[in-house]
Amino acid sequence: MNLCRECYGIIGEGVVAEKCEACCNAFDRVEEFAEEIVKKMSEYEFETFNVGSRVWGSLKALQEYLSLKGIEYEIKQRFNTKLARAIEEKTGSKRTLNPDITVLFDLETFTFELQIRPVFIYGRYLKRVRNISQTRWLCGYCNGEGCEVCNFTGKKYVSSVEELIAMPAVRLFKARDAKLHGAGREDVDARMLGTGRPFVLEVIEPRKRFVDLKELEEAINSQKWVAVRDLEYTDAEKVREVKTERHRKTYRAKVVFEEKVERERLIEALESLKGEIRQRTPTRVSHRRADRVRVRRLYDARLIHHTGRVAVVEFEAEAGLYIKELVSGDNGRTRPSLAEKVGVNARVDRLDVIAVS
Ligand SMILES: [Zn+2]
Ligand SMILES: [Zn+2]
Repeated sequence: MNLCRECYGIIGEGVVAEKCEACCNAFDRVEEFAEEIVKKMSEYEFETFNVGSRVWGSLKALQEYLSLKGIEYEIKQRFNTKLARAIEEKTGSKRTLNPDITVLFDLETFTFELQIRPVFIYGRYLKRVRNISQTRWLCGYCNGEGCEVCNFTGKKYVSSVEELIAMPAVRLFKARDAKLHGAGREDVDARMLGTGRPFVLEVIEPRKRFVDLKELEEAINSQKWVAVRDLEYTDAEKVREVKTERHRKTYRAKVVFEEKVERERLIEALESLKGEIRQRTPTRVSHRRADRVRVRRLYDARLIHHTGRVAVVEFEAEAGLYIKELVSGDNGRTRPSLAEKVGVNARVDRLDVIAVS
């Protein structure tokens, strides 16, 4: 078999020749590959990189054939090392684990792809208006295609917290996209006020990696509907943390009763409502959530304002307690409820989240 010097060294038999029948001269062409790769890498800001390669097809078949003859023809490691060294020389950056860019080289086709590590940004958001969803929500009629129902936007709501935060980030990081990971979510018709809700923004395939987050904050906050604060760079681990942490929340609800309620009775009802609430999955979300009974704690229920049939109440609750159903009782699916305690039908007219701790 005709082999290059490198492959001859590994296989230990055959003839050293111009054309290598084993690696198809992959080793000889490392400089050429590196040049092409570095050119593509230069489109991105990065400090670190790593190299991986893939063996399949005819190269894999050759490996298996040689293996039967007792020859271990393993070239991945050697090739990666050689390619990485060439890239290091050309860029001055370091090969590390968990790098900004991973080069995946295909040893069968001599093609490559770059995997760009996302940028993760932690922060808190405030939602100052109602009727925008937390994440992009496709129109249910056309599934995003655009139709008369959605005014050909493809979206169920005009905008989302995600879009309002992601768009400036995509622009500043010259990224392909950005995804919002929130610590829970408020209802579409609820505002998120106070100190805001924790989130992590995942910026996908960023060409810029070192953006001044003050600049990002200003770009997002200039849009009015949504504001962010406390932005800082973080890592992928924080996404899991934000998604699994059980945050205690404080809500302000405008409650409307079916008939006039005595103030004393209302205060007593709120007092006795505190404690464990047994809540079966609400009717309004039962089509997308499993039907089960959750027990959640109501820590506090304070009357802020009251006239006749209308009351403004602040509820402080464990994560996962549905406030609209806590008030209405959801036809007995939530017990106890404010309506049950007062003895008058009640519903939430407006709801805001005022603190997430
Ligand atoms: Zn070779
Ligand atoms: Zn539509």
